[in-house]
Amino acid sequence: MAEPIVRLTGVSKRYERRGGKAVTAVDDVSLDVHEGEVLAVIGYSGAGKSTVVRLMNALEAPTSGTVTVAGQDLTRLPEKELRRARQKIGMIFQQFNLFRSRTVAGNVAYPLKVAGVPKAQRDARVAELLDFVGLLERAHAHPEQLSGGQKQRVGIARALATNPPLLLADEATSALDPETTTEVLSLLRRVNRELGVTIVVITHEMDAVRQIADRVAVMEDGRVVEVGDVYDVFSAPRTAPARRFVRSVLHDRPEPDVLERLRHRHPGRLLTVQVTDEPDLQKRVDRAFSGAGVRTELVHGGVSELRERRLGSLTYEATGPEGAVDAALAALRAAGVAVEEEV
Ligand code: ADP
Repeated sequence: MAEPIVRLTGVSKRYERRGGKAVTAVDDVSLDVHEGEVLAVIGYSGAGKSTVVRLMNALEAPTSGTVTVAGQDLTRLPEKELRRARQKIGMIFQQFNLFRSRTVAGNVAYPLKVAGVPKAQRDARVAELLDFVGLLERAHAHPEQLSGGQKQRVGIARALATNPPLLLADEATSALDPETTTEVLSLLRRVNRELGVTIVVITHEMDAVRQIADRVAVMEDGRVVEVGDVYDVFSAPRTAPARRFVRSVLHDRPEPDVLERLRHRHPGRLLTVQVTDEPDLQKRVDRAFSGAGVRTELVHGGVSELRERRLGSLTYEATGPEGAVDAALAALRAAGVAVEEEV
């Protein structure tokens, strides 16, 4: 397998707080980003996601461990070479960080100017980039004349100006409405697919994960607790923190207030079955219930897609003679169906 484009090895970052105790923002993280993929780093606020991004583009130096980007150990580079290395890493932000005094074209041209690209070449590249993000007609507008989605598209064009092989997106869609989020995410997907740019997205939003990520890394308390293919992590999280996070963004189980109403209306036991894309799942579920003499009523849930594969959950009210529901539960589990009782 090719060398990863980013490799964190045993990376920790501690902040000494004045007068207070130290905070370990990133705690012994080892993580690879593969060339050509979209990796989402997900987790609750304060988990250490932004710090990981700042370590990847060397805006911060780790307290311990090494950060390698495109084969270069950033922790050993002198400042001058570090600046050159940073030009190979594009960055987009939640608040866009555009220059208000420059036009759209001026913003996109800026990194090319810094890199010393001659004017004619710069102009051609800016036109090409603005065409790619669909803003060629707005080249002479100023950022305040643009919508949030357009501003982020300018941010993306600017980040790509010097042709970086790696793009870091820190909560890039968190300030946008759902429709604009979709539009920006599909542009990022094109950046990945058509331009071959590897992307790391930091997000706490399920939409971002659902629409563009190939793999996810789940963070909690400064640690990466789980890494894997998006579908695998969301359909079968292996660790308790990942399960907690996945559940909170998928909303796949009835929330406490919903559960209370369900209990009021449905006196039977409430069983939630996880729906994956395994074949014959419905058949196995039906057989377990009917074999045990249990009657069911669907009371909650839904099924949709993640990475073009089926994923969801269905909550049934199960009623039957003494011991029948327990027998059905045992039969479901014996048939390999993931089921939990709502308690
Ligand atoms: P996330 O992006 O997941 O919300 P962060 O990486 O921003 O998490 O923060 C992780 C932890 O490190 C938090 O407890 C935060 O308060 C702390 N932290 C981040 N940056 C600094 C800093 N510059 N100085 C002190 N503490 C920081």
